[in-house]
Formats: sequence, C-alpha cells, structure tokens
Amino acid sequence: MTRKRVLVTGGAGFIGSHLCRRLLERGDEVICVDNYYTGTRDNIAPLLANPRFEAIRHDVCLPLFVEVDEIYNLACPASPVHYQFDPVQTTKTSVHGAINMLGLAKRCKAKIFQASTSEVYGDPEVHPQPETYWGRVNPIGIRACYDEGKRCAETLFFDYHRQHKLRIKVARIFNTYGPHMRPDDGRVVSNFIIQALRNEPITIYGDGLQTRSFCYVDDLVRGFIALMDSPDEITGPINLGRPHEFTMLELAQLVIAEAGSSSTLTHQELPQDDPTQRKPDITQARNILGWEPEIALEQGLKATVAYFRSVLEAGWEPRS
Ligand code: NAD
Ligand code: UDP
Repeated sequence: MTRKRVLVTGGAGFIGSHLCRRLLERGDEVICVDNYYTGTRDNIAPLLANPRFEAIRHDVCLPLFVEVDEIYNLACPASPVHYQFDPVQTTKTSVHGAINMLGLAKRCKAKIFQASTSEVYGDPEVHPQPETYWGRVNPIGIRACYDEGKRCAETLFFDYHRQHKLRIKVARIFNTYGPHMRPDDGRVVSNFIIQALRNEPITIYGDGLQTRSFCYVDDLVRGFIALMDSPDEITGPINLGRPHEFTMLELAQLVIAEAGSSSTLTHQELPQDDPTQRKPDITQARNILGWEPEIALEQGLKATVAYFRSVLEAGWEPRS
C-alpha cells in the first residue's frame, strides 16, 4: 500500500495537533499548515522529530501549492473570544480558506474534509439538532463572522462536489475539549478549569442554565478519520459530538470537584446571541460510520485538568 500524504490546515491548534499525531501514528505523511493565530508551536513540538511530519507557516486565505492525497481543513479560530477579536479575518479564513483548499483539492484530485460546526444551527428551535435542521443564525450578530463563514464554507464544499465532482466530507462538530486548548482560549471548559485550579471565582455567563454537550478530543478525532475513510458517496454533513447535555452550572460543579478546588461561582453578563441549548443528534454518525463517543465527561475532565495543572506548574500566567 502506498503511504498517503495528508494536509491538515490549522494543524497547530487544539484539535488539529491531536489529528496530526493520530495520522502520524497510523503511518501517514502529514503536512501541517498554520499561521499560529490561535495555535502554538508547543502543540506540535513533539511531532517535529518525526520525518513524516512537516510544518509550514501559511495563511489559508492565500493559495497554497503542495501535492497531497487528503486535506483536513481545520484552519479557523474556534473560541468566540478569538473569532470575534478580528471578525473580518474570521470570515475571510472560513470563506477564502475554503476556496483555496477546495481549489487545491481539485488540482490534486484530493479528498477534502471540512471542520464545520454546530454553530451552523445558531440558537436552535429544534432539539436535539439533526443534520436536516437548517438552523437559526443571526446573520448580522457578533457570532455571524464564524457562523455564516462556516455556513458559506459548507455551501462551497457542496457546490464543488456538485459542479466539480470533488470528494467532500463535511463534519459538524459540537463542543469539544481536551489537552492543547489554550489556557486563555476563552471557551468554557478551559476557563472553568484554569479558574478552579487557581481557586478563583468560576465565571458563569448568564444564569448558567444554558446547555452544551461536550465531546473529548480523542473521540472526535476518531470520528474525523472514520468520516474521511468512509465511502466516497458519504459526504455529510454529519454531526460529531457527544449527546449528553450539561448546564454550565453542572459543568462548573464537575470541574470544581475534579480540580479539588475551593472556587465559588460568580455570574457575568450573557454574551449576545449565546445559544440556549445544544445537543447533537448523532444517529447518522452511529449508523453510517459506526462511530460513538466513548469517553464520559468526568473521565475527559480528569485528563484535561491534569493537562492544565501541568501548564500552570510550568509557569503559565494570564496576560495582564
Ligand atoms: P483552534 O483555534 O485551537 O485551532 C484553529 C487553528 O487554525 C489554530 O492553530 C490557528 O492558528 C489556525 N488558523 C486560524 N486562522 C488561520 C489561517 N487564516 N490560516 C492558517 N491557520 C489558521 O480551534 P480548534 O478548537 O482546534 O478548532 C479546529 C476547527 O474545528 C476549527 O475550524 C473550528 O471551527 C472547528 N470546530 C471546533 C469546535 C470545538 O469545540 N473545538 C467545535 C466546532 C467546530
Ligand atoms: N461560558 C460561561 N463562562 C465562561 C465561558 C463560557 O458560562 O467563562 C458559557 C457561554 O456563555 C456559553 C457556554 O459557556 O453559554 C459555552 O461557551 P463556549 O465559549 O465554550 O462555546 P460556544 O458553545 O458558546 O461556542
């Protein structure tokens, strides 16, 4: 069997770095492309010694010329804090990035995977969310740069598939957590764990009764590869996430217990357009891919708390 050469955009990010490692473990050649906007070289440092791994600093908004068999397109900041910092760049990354990577896939006849998101469902009125639900996104709100950017990327993927017969794989990812999230990422799991480990108040936005469903990164990456390896007629979109719903208050209690923390809770204003509930319907992933998350939140939090503990012990401090 010939070895596959696989491009991972956003490969130095949280999920991308786990995906690069997993692909190397199974024998692929991996090219990681990243502009280090939210990703870090630390995330891929352990991979650099592998002769089958190559890292390229590049912005996906610009064309890229490499020869590859498969592309996983993950480049895009995922934390609301980071994607709202430079919203125009966020839309460009999703849309121009998709156009450039689809063009590359077309030239190389490569199979291409898109890291889409549960955010395409917006603040949903259908619960749990199946892939057939078209969503409820505010097109002019502060989350739109991400939500509409990802929706437009899905449109481009399906048009390239229909028009140019490209082999596409679109995954809609629900909230994922684990080691390699940035301590200052701003997302709920990393915020709560850092606050708990520092015995600082846990910041609950709003009443804390909004829900999310959390998937551990190893489970998610297994789902990515199962989708990429599935027959060509399986295009998605397909939900990947763990269908167990928690309120932010419940999550805070689990984190406090796992960290052995004395933190109290403090309530802050709920950000605009914050979805009230979110839970994936993963019937398709179960039936088509035979995929199912295996790691319970308590178990995944244990590994993630241990990771952030080591980051703090190495001297990480929040920027003042
Ligand atoms: P992340 O911010 O850790 O990783 C994104 C990576 O993309 C970073 O390494 C960043 O530097 C890189 N990047 C950003 N803009 C770029 C550009 N213009 N050119 C090249 N590289 C660029 O986020 P993550 O959680 O690892 O998310 C990875 C992908 O999965 C994203 O596309 C995100 O939208 C999607 N996703 C993640 C989640 C989640 O819960 N983590 C949920 C839904 C979707
Ligand atoms: N959240 C919170 N405290 C925090 C960070 C986030 O209560 O310190 C809430 C946020 O308002 C949202 C949920 O946690 O309801 C998940 O937020 P996150 O930014 O992780 O991802 P989202 O699913 O909103 O994209």
